Amino acid sequence: MIPPGLTSLELARESYRGITLYAPDRAPCAVDLSDNTNLWGIPPGAERAIREAAVSAVTRYPSLYAGGLKESLARYLGVAPAMVVTGCGSDDVLDSAIRAFGEPGDRIAHPEPSFAMIPIFARMNGLEPLGVPLFDPEATLATGARIIYLCSPNNPTGNAMSRSAIEYVVERATGVVILDEAYAEFAGVSGVDLLERSERLLVTRTMSKAFGLAGLRIGYAAGSAALVAEVEKSRGPYKVSALAERAAMAALAEGADGLGWVRAHVAEAVAIRERFAGELAALGLAALPSDANFLLVPVPDAAGIARHLREGGVAVRPFVALPGVGDALRISVGPWAMMERCLAALADALRTTPA
Ligand SMILES: *Cc1c(COP(=O)(O)O)cnc(C)c1O
Repeated sequence: MIPPGLTSLELARESYRGITLYAPDRAPCAVDLSDNTNLWGIPPGAERAIREAAVSAVTRYPSLYAGGLKESLARYLGVAPAMVVTGCGSDDVLDSAIRAFGEPGDRIAHPEPSFAMIPIFARMNGLEPLGVPLFDPEATLATGARIIYLCSPNNPTGNAMSRSAIEYVVERATGVVILDEAYAEFAGVSGVDLLERSERLLVTRTMSKAFGLAGLRIGYAAGSAALVAEVEKSRGPYKVSALAERAAMAALAEGADGLGWVRAHVAEAVAIRERFAGELAALGLAALPSDANFLLVPVPDAAGIARHLREGGVAVRPFVALPGVGDALRISVGPWAMMERCLAALADALRTTPA
């Protein structure tokens, strides 16, 4: 029986009342270093595919489960196509996986600080998020959580989890381990090969960062065929649009217009990241060591400095009181001219808002 007189708020499931919309400051800014996307653009092959498919591909439904894209991704990762599941961004894959492997009331362990969407997806699916110290395998396993979420390289700290720590968790976990590798291309290391040894590991990836296709929303995961099949059920059909699938396949093609473009720009991002860290040090700012395409820079009053930078035409992502870090700015790496703009704005902000 539904009790009479429910307010419109009470019509939603009870666990939804504490959930708020994801709302980072997305106001347009001349130099936007706030979301870790590819600031060089997209592979030329993907651009051609989008132009060619723009009209012809969109009148019909896309493939049910993106079979063509799965084959391209399987080749890229060196796994069988049956070990790949795609989604509308890796956000969609993570959400589907949490729903597939966790009953309402189950717990999901996640590092703190880490990807802000995980506690939200947990609550959206009726699970209880449980924060544990970053890269602490013992504390992670001690939760006994049904799902363990790991992120390597970790957002927002930027550092990769050691291979031995990942193996330690995967070997001992009693439930499912999700390893979020949104930034694996920049780290040059991956846990995908651990899939040969573990039936309980799911590695999630995205085409939003190194591949430059954030606006098309393409994510994926690799895992044992049995695990992947459950995520696919939970995800549902038609989640990758026809345009997105074609662009993604072109971006994954070998050659200068596809993977060659991606690899060259990953290398450039890594080189600029190190150069930028050096220039930050000259300003007296010690960025955390990073294996991704962004740097986390501890500063006093991150919100105030980010506001100042924004007024100077540079957007970065402020974090307030991050566990183990304190206030910090997350700054994406892009073409050097953008980083110079950022350095100048930072120098100005530090002059006007002294520590
Ligand atoms: C950006 C990001 C994602 C989400 O990527 P989409 O594929 O665009 O949904 C997932 N995990 C981490 C850690 C990220 O930083």
